[in-house]
Amino acid sequence: MSKIKLGILGGGEDSLIGILHRVAASMFDRYEIVGGVFDIEHARSLSFGEKLQLDSKRIYRDLDHLIKEEAQLPENERMQVISVLTPNFLHFPMAKQLLENGYNVICEKPLTTTYEEAKILQKTQEKSGSIFGVTYTYTGYPMVRQMKTMISNGEIGEIQKVDVQYYQGWINPLIHDKEKRSNTWRLDPEKSGISCCIGDIGTHAFNMAEYVTGMRISSILADLNYLYEDNPMDIDGTVLLRFSEKVKGVIRASQIATGEENNFTVKIYGNKGALKWEQENPNYLYLLKEDQPLQVLKPGHSYNSDFSLEGTKLPPGHPEGIFDSMGNIYLGIANAIEKNTKFEGAFPPLAEGLRGMSFIEKTVASHKKGNVWIKMNDK
Ligand code: NAD
Repeated sequence: MSKIKLGILGGGEDSLIGILHRVAASMFDRYEIVGGVFDIEHARSLSFGEKLQLDSKRIYRDLDHLIKEEAQLPENERMQVISVLTPNFLHFPMAKQLLENGYNVICEKPLTTTYEEAKILQKTQEKSGSIFGVTYTYTGYPMVRQMKTMISNGEIGEIQKVDVQYYQGWINPLIHDKEKRSNTWRLDPEKSGISCCIGDIGTHAFNMAEYVTGMRISSILADLNYLYEDNPMDIDGTVLLRFSEKVKGVIRASQIATGEENNFTVKIYGNKGALKWEQENPNYLYLLKEDQPLQVLKPGHSYNSDFSLEGTKLPPGHPEGIFDSMGNIYLGIANAIEKNTKFEGAFPPLAEGLRGMSFIEKTVASHKKGNVWIKMNDK
């Protein structure tokens, strides 16, 4: 079987996320990176493409050139899927143009900068019939997938409480200095969208809460922190969640939790047990029961589900991490492109990105209306 031809937009040499996608794409030998527009500066894009040993003719000046020139190539050489790894405000126009030209798309989160844009993208995808994955990276970890399976098998009983925390501290050194804080696109609403903390990391927490429980959040109440009056973007927030009248929870997200690195912790409590997982120690899944000692489940063992085991490449005791997690999402998308999907939940579809945009907008609205309960959109 020939490899799927992959193009990349953004993710240049200096970017945070580019390396994660390039390694993930190579992991199961299913993709071949053939070109793209890696950087806003064409010269930098070209020299990076050379380093990757790509054909310089396929390092394009911009997306318009890519679409025009790829269409001139023989069909079996053209890009089949394109990853969008640019800052947030470019996701919508780029992904829409790609769908309109028949490409499958892998897009970073948040899907767009508004819910309206995300709805348009969904309609465009329905028309095109293309595969569309949104890279909520953490859903690819084997022990997250194990957690999802165990909850759906009823191993912790009826869910009673959901607590998802995502704490980082990296904005703390920037936020107190006006000049420094104007130098990051994440704090610029034109480039980032209406929210920083909730849009950047709260959206991972929201997606995870729904992914592992298999339940939908019906309403939310948010209290955000902007710290300075002239800062238009939240950098910390707490969001109360209602899945139903009896199932409630909380998302705690912060980028000013000083000293925290990428402390993403998921705790799901049922009436028969609980499961806890921490992104910084992703190979341990903790199972808590009222009358039993704490159990620690680890990847690669036969007691794990087939879904969890599909994404584990080495025997137990060989730690795998975030590259592998993204690799599993790329694997799920490759299987979907080749019409060979094996597991539900193998990659986050566009609909999850749409839910994420609803969450971001409702959260900001709840805070701005004076911390009130707001219903989520149905989709
Ligand atoms: P970054 O600022 O580090 O890199 C952005 C890259 O895009 C740069 O190489 C830049 O030159 C390039 N670029 C900008 N405009 C471009 C254009 N018009 N055409 C082509 N390239 C262009 O940003 P980042 O931290 O890598 O974030 C990129 C995206 O990835 C964001 O949407 C962010 O939310 C997302 N992200 C996701 C995760 C995750 O866990 N899934 C983690 C980090 C970032």
